Parts: sequence; C-alpha cells; structure tokens
Amino acid sequence: MRYEMMLPHQIRKAIAENWPVVLPLGVLEYHGEHMAVGMDTLAVVKMLELLEKEQPIVILPAFYYGAASYAVEKPEGNGSVQVEGSRLAPFAEDLFFSLLRIGFRNIHAIIHHQTENFAAGMPTDLAFRTAGRQAIFRFLEKEHGEGWWGNAASANYYADHAAGANPFNWVQVHPLMSPEIFAKYPFDHAGQGETSLMLALCPEAVETHRVGENTGWYTASAKDAGADLGAKGAAMVLDRLRALLGR
Ligand SMILES: [Zn+2]
Repeated sequence: MRYEMMLPHQIRKAIAENWPVVLPLGVLEYHGEHMAVGMDTLAVVKMLELLEKEQPIVILPAFYYGAASYAVEKPEGNGSVQVEGSRLAPFAEDLFFSLLRIGFRNIHAIIHHQTENFAAGMPTDLAFRTAGRQAIFRFLEKEHGEGWWGNAASANYYADHAAGANPFNWVQVHPLMSPEIFAKYPFDHAGQGETSLMLALCPEAVETHRVGENTGWYTASAKDAGADLGAKGAAMVLDRLRALLGR
C-alpha cells in the first residue's frame, strides 16, 4: 500500500503483521539526453510496485533529493540536484525515528545510485545508514532509558540476537542490485543496463531516438539497450527483493 493512502486501521494492521515499510531512496541526476533524471529512484519505485502485487508491503513516498553529486555533469541546464550527505542525515534520522514511534519495526530503504561498492558506501546511503542507527539508539533510550543495554532486562541481548530479535535490524538500507546481479547484468550509468531497465519498467522515461545526441562516454552502450534485457534485470531484482522483504 502507498503509505500516504493508508488509514489508521490499515497502519495498525501493517504494524501488527510486521509488514515491510520501504522507502524508495534516490536522486535526480543527469542520465544522458535520452533518459529522465529520476531514473535511479524510478527504478526502485517501479520494482516495489511489482513486489506489491505479490505480498503485503508499505511503500513510503519516494525520497528523490539525495546527493547526486556533479560527477557526471554540471547542473546548469542538465538537471542534477545535489544535497550534501551531512544535510540528509538529520532529515533521515527524524524520518526513521518517526517510523519507529509509529510502531514499525521492519523498515527498509532501497537505493540504486552509486551502489557498486556498497560496503564502503557513498554519501546518500551512508547518510541514511548512519541515520537509521542513530534513530534506533535514540528510540531505545527514549523507550528504556539510558543504560538500557547494561540493564538486567538486557541480559539475554545476544541470545535474543541469535533468535532474530536484533533491534538494529529495525532499519536497514539496501542497494537495489547485489554484486551477484552486477555479475550477470550490465552495470553502468545511463548506458545499456540502466536504459534497458527503464525501457522495461518505465518506458515513458526514455526517448530512444535521442541516444545519438549523447556525448558522454558512459552513454556509448545505450544504443544496445532493449526492453527484453531490462526485463531480465528486473526479474533478478524482483528475486532479490523477495529475499530481502519476503515474509
Ligand atoms: Zn543511474
């Protein structure tokens, strides 16, 4: 369900049944002359809409205002929007803290921007990952007071972890694509891989006849894009989302 369309009784049901609550997290960034600037975020939104056909899930309004950077192109006339990670983190912490206050304990953000080396991280995902941790600490201290971890009530903390009750799993940030998918599907920026994915998921975000107007090296492979290849990538991503968010 779209969170903004939910009534309180539906929110209470989603909490009681521990539905995944998912933030599509991304940026607005120049993706060549042939593709929409929202590509990275649109890919997440469209994939979550496919997952929603199969299982209960809460989809939060997408956050498009991450740190696109100006690495690809300057913004003037090109469209990239850059918000520093240091400014994203306070917003994200309040967002996650609010979701914990509401009662959600199965919160996720999914990102498809600068995710090729996710363990090390990039500004947008690092800001949201840090924010998730901070929000959980803040929430636990509010609920249980300072010293909550050292308290006798937490004596079974590690045993409870082993049983799957780790509170630091309440908020998780994941890349849309895993290293296993990168090994089988072209990873690029506005090239064959991303353009194909958009042709499969959101064709209105691509004007194929403009591929020839591109001058950036990173778009050279876009001429080989096709919806069939994109559908293969989408199927792999859907499998991954089932594994991450399946119930
Ligand atoms: Zn992209």
